[in-house]
Amino acid sequence: MKVRAQIGMVLNLDKCIGCHTCSITCKNVWTSREGVEYAWFNNVETKPGIGFPKEWENQQKWNGGWVRENGKLQLKIGGKRRILANIFANPDLPEIDDYYEPFDFDYQHLHNVGDTKHQPVARPRSLISGQRMEKIEWGPNWEEILGTEFEKRKKDTNFNEVVQKDIYGQFEKTFMMYLPRLCEHCLNPACVAACPSGAIYKREEDGIVLIDQDKCRGWRMCVSACPYKKIYYNWKSGKSEKCTFCFPRIEAGQPTTCSETCVGRIRYLGVLLYDADRIESAACVANEKDLYQAQLDIFLDPHDPAVIAAARAEGINDNWIKAAQRSPVYMMAMDWKVALPLHPEYRTLPMVWYVPPLSPIQSAVQAGHVGMNGEIPDLKSLRIPLRYLANMLTAGDEAPVVRALERMIAMRAFKRSQQVDGVEDLDVL
Ligand code: SF4
Ligand code: SF4
Repeated sequence: MKVRAQIGMVLNLDKCIGCHTCSITCKNVWTSREGVEYAWFNNVETKPGIGFPKEWENQQKWNGGWVRENGKLQLKIGGKRRILANIFANPDLPEIDDYYEPFDFDYQHLHNVGDTKHQPVARPRSLISGQRMEKIEWGPNWEEILGTEFEKRKKDTNFNEVVQKDIYGQFEKTFMMYLPRLCEHCLNPACVAACPSGAIYKREEDGIVLIDQDKCRGWRMCVSACPYKKIYYNWKSGKSEKCTFCFPRIEAGQPTTCSETCVGRIRYLGVLLYDADRIESAACVANEKDLYQAQLDIFLDPHDPAVIAAARAEGINDNWIKAAQRSPVYMMAMDWKVALPLHPEYRTLPMVWYVPPLSPIQSAVQAGHVGMNGEIPDLKSLRIPLRYLANMLTAGDEAPVVRALERMIAMRAFKRSQQVDGVEDLDVL
């Protein structure tokens, strides 16, 4: 057993209100500079949707990251094996249009607009061309306004009645959720393996993945190889950059900026102990649906005396062991199993986990379609289909998602049945 410590994050998607405060505060601290205007180390996407960068989940399109071939893990960069990719030019990189054009607001417009009937608003202005962006074609939260677009189109007399009926049918079935995203600080990071300069490294003491700016030569193999597309090229410095998990704050005992400023209080930070000897076999399991369980099996019980002794023998200090013992990440991900990894089928063993959203299925719960005793609920009754959540969080295995949702429902019922100031909340669900 080779014990290592890792800092991880759990985000409770039930509580995210999509306010983007986390993205803005992260940007102010880390990427409010020339060269990385377009970069959002933390972004909040509307799902299901195009994402940021565009279609990052379409692994056929980008064709990078780990794949299992002939029983072994292979790293691919733009569809080529790593060694070939290094010889030829770096193939499939997202372009600026895939990140959408960065824009600012033309605040001067508020002063120049003159008398108007309505209050003027600041117009968006391209940071690249300086031109006004009258028509923004898309964005990571574009899907949210499609409903409004439909209402506008409904008034169009040329709008084909059949198409209208068809689209209306589709909109009736729509669902949405927010997905805040940052670098996963993976246990098996494709970016580290892809870097020809050896500039990317995973810190021994806490598992944070960083890029040594002195060593980076701007090959951008990491951008192609990261299946989460969470590395950004700085066109000014000619180096790659990424989320640092706010390591200077972590070292000072502070939470990350996104966690501290989160309006919904959805983010939990915590230490985990894991067995580094099990990483390769876990990342390489044959069946994708087993990857979630394989990842769980890597983690060690921080209360187990044998684990504590092994951790001490590896030089992990008692403060870290104590932090692991009271880690909310351990509790939610390993103990209660209400938090699940994002796309474990990418085989990087991601360390930012998510509690699946419950609120949109509240009506289904009230209707008794989501059982409390283990049965698989009727998929049609859920606002967010279980299959969608399972494809996002457990490589398609629905049972762990059902378990997580049922536990969240049970916890909500328990908390709401508590008396507050002697008054019982009768609206239990
Ligand atoms: Fe590297 Fe991407 Fe994993 Fe972050 S999410 S550690 S950039 S492979
Ligand atoms: Fe969601 Fe918190 Fe970010 Fe707001 S600050 S978008 S609630 S994660």
